Amino acid sequence: MNKPLILVVEDDSTVRNLIATTLKSNDYRYITAPNGASAIAAATTQQPDIVFLDLGLPDLDGVEIIRRIRTWSQMPIIVISARSEDADKVSALDAGADDYLTKPFSVTELLARLRVAQRRISSAAVMTGEALFHNGNLTIDYGAGCAFLSGEALKLTPTEYKLLCLLAKDVGKVLTHTYLTDKIWGSSWESDMASLRVHMATLRKKIEKDSDTQYIQTHIGIGYRMLKVE
Ligand code: CA
Repeated sequence: MNKPLILVVEDDSTVRNLIATTLKSNDYRYITAPNGASAIAAATTQQPDIVFLDLGLPDLDGVEIIRRIRTWSQMPIIVISARSEDADKVSALDAGADDYLTKPFSVTELLARLRVAQRRISSAAVMTGEALFHNGNLTIDYGAGCAFLSGEALKLTPTEYKLLCLLAKDVGKVLTHTYLTDKIWGSSWESDMASLRVHMATLRKKIEKDSDTQYIQTHIGIGYRMLKVE
């Protein structure tokens, strides 16, 4: 795959330059936008492959930018926000962002998130219309409604299977607690959140049991992500 084109949206020039320098020295192509209006314009005309989006912009709300981009594109959006803004991250993810970086972040973290997004693009291209989902030793047979680990059928409850399919459908993307409970139970009460934790724990025990492979990543206070295993 060619190096993707990255759009960096950030009004703080220090952070913007840090990201730009990192991308440049790692051979990525990039464009920058210092505010929401120019971000929308760049996203429309230049069609970037991945977007880094600061949530706190002078003119437009970052969540609003995500909503607008999502009306025409599924390009991975990685939100950049301050540590104290967990609620904002959740709104951003629910509006369709894929992932988040918390300020201050390291260059290593930035590049790691970028790789996750790139894997997400390539797996999305492969998986369109597929009847089978493969990730490491994990296979989901959507037609048969069952999942396998290293070729052995997993004994999943209907809720665990549903959870697994939701995570697999958006592999690489962080899914919020609200999104998951809403998809499974149609609601997101405190009791649903508790049930989600229980079902997730039992699911993880089954798919991560006798290997060192981690398929599901917990984001405390935010949600869960299925990692794309090499
Ligand atoms: Ca800002």
